[in-house]
Amino acid sequence: MANNCLSLVVHGGAGAKRGRDYSREIAHMRGVVEAGRDRLMAGALALDVAEEATAELEASGLYVAGRGASPNIDGRYELDACLMDGHTGRAGSVAALQGFESPVAVARAIMDWTPHVMLAGEGAARFAVSQKLAAIADDAAWFTHAGQDESNHPPGVLAHGTVGCVVRDGEGRLAAATSTGGVFGKLPGRVGDTPIIGAGGWADDRVAVSCTGQGEYFVRVAAAAQLAHRIRFGGQSLEVAAAAVLAQIRALGGEGGLIAVDADGNVAMPFVSAGMKRAALLPGGEIVSEAF
Ligand code: ASP
Repeated sequence: MANNCLSLVVHGGAGAKRGRDYSREIAHMRGVVEAGRDRLMAGALALDVAEEATAELEASGLYVAGRGASPNIDGRYELDACLMDGHTGRAGSVAALQGFESPVAVARAIMDWTPHVMLAGEGAARFAVSQKLAAIADDAAWFTHAGQDESNHPPGVLAHGTVGCVVRDGEGRLAAATSTGGVFGKLPGRVGDTPIIGAGGWADDRVAVSCTGQGEYFVRVAAAAQLAHRIRFGGQSLEVAAAAVLAQIRALGGEGGLIAVDADGNVAMPFVSAGMKRAALLPGGEIVSEAF
């Protein structure tokens, strides 16, 4: 299969700080994109590739998600994730999950093995145990505090971090996955946009979206679903729709960015924040990457 019909984008969060060197993260993201491309060229489904890429970003400990997540004010790690299959319209998500290595794997199991879309907190953890998903034995040994340098933001700006992936596979199927440690210094029980289908993530037959930024703002504008509906009902291009959603975030005083791919393989990676770590396989086969 030629790779000119494949698109894949990953992000490592819109919490990037000016002056910090992200070459390690960028190199890692390029590797994740290459691995995803190879899987797509071998015929893998968009949903599987989006989940695998997000799980790899979680496991690296380089981003404020999965192993790199930051704790809440009680020192506990409550993580959020979601994924959505644009081909079938199925979705899974998990909120305020404690004690498991891969929140996106828990979200996938919720999608595959329950009649529900979202599980939260204690119930989600019990379900993950029942699925024998990899548990964290010792938080202190597991978490890397990858985003510590990013936790120092101007007053009023919630420092944050996330990872995500959007994919168009060789059959034109679209999928999105997102996973986060949330915002720094969050209250216990705080849930952001990431696990809310239509806020932090979305996929249908026209577009797949993964958002990053101050989640409260993305929830308030239903960012990911709004972008999709601008395309479906408003006839807007991916680029125009993405810019309009981020303009609303900025007008409310928020910051962040998103990655998206449409049914034709077009890719968008806009942000209204200091930076957003990102890497993409473009439809022509070229891989691009940047932090600012
Ligand atoms: N959107 C995430 C949240 O608010 C954080 C981020 O994307 O950096 O939980």
